[in-house]
Amino acid sequence: MSPSALRLNDAAFGYGGRVVVDGLTFDVPTGQVMAVVGPNGSGKSTFVKGLLGLADQLGGDAAVFGDPPRTREVRRRIGYVPQRHTLSASVRATVREIVETGRLAHRPWYRPAGADDRAAVDAALAQVGLGDRVDAEVSDLSGGQQRRVLIARALAGRPDLLIMDEPTAGVDTASQTVLAEVLHRLADEGTTMLIVTHELVALRGIVDRIVEIAQGGLAFDGTPVEWAEQERGRILATASHDGHCGPGDPERSTYAIGPWDGITPPPAV
Ligand code: ADP
Repeated sequence: MSPSALRLNDAAFGYGGRVVVDGLTFDVPTGQVMAVVGPNGSGKSTFVKGLLGLADQLGGDAAVFGDPPRTREVRRRIGYVPQRHTLSASVRATVREIVETGRLAHRPWYRPAGADDRAAVDAALAQVGLGDRVDAEVSDLSGGQQRRVLIARALAGRPDLLIMDEPTAGVDTASQTVLAEVLHRLADEGTTMLIVTHELVALRGIVDRIVEIAQGGLAFDGTPVEWAEQERGRILATASHDGHCGPGDPERSTYAIGPWDGITPPPAV
């Protein structure tokens, strides 16, 4: 059996002593791609920040590759793409310079970037399909390309776990498709990923498992097929009240299932 990337037992996270999310119990084996879904304000970001030591663990047990969050070792093993992160138009830096900052945790602060750092940056940019834009100014890139630069920055640290908070949100449909292709490739390469998202349709064929956090607790944990079945149940329950709603109706479903109903095999992305 593959070792756990993440192991939570009744874990609680929050800020300044106030619990935001608790009762989190699940294991994430290495190589798994897990989507974390749930309504706004339910505690998804607080959970991932808790793994990074950016929110407080306020109860239970949490281990990332066997170590408690907040440790230096854990921070080195996680690559993190924060929520709604874009690069300001005023940033004067090249793609290489930005991605290179993903290497800072991997060498003493006084040592300049070396051959290994440059190789890691080149490999990360190739992984996100921006190998030909190394010397471009980031301010000249589109929003979707900047998002890929930030994923490359996280990958440059050669992480064992890649955590992304809404990686496909706020970019146009074409960029979303490219980002989905990038995530697909990373999944095929065996990258363990935890993706906070509202856009499960964009991630079809990528995600192995869905965890829902609602009202500060764990509301669902299962496969995409099980998720689709649950969503269909929710939709039909609503339909039986007003009689005019069908499966996949985005008005009724919290997460549009769209053409992928989770039962028939998803189309290739
Ligand atoms: P989600 O990611 O599901 O939208 P969040 O984890 O961002 O939810 O927020 C959950 C709750 O935690 C909200 O009530 C929010 O106000 C609170 N919260 C988020 N960040 C902080 C913070 N840095 N300090 C205190 N409370 C916070």
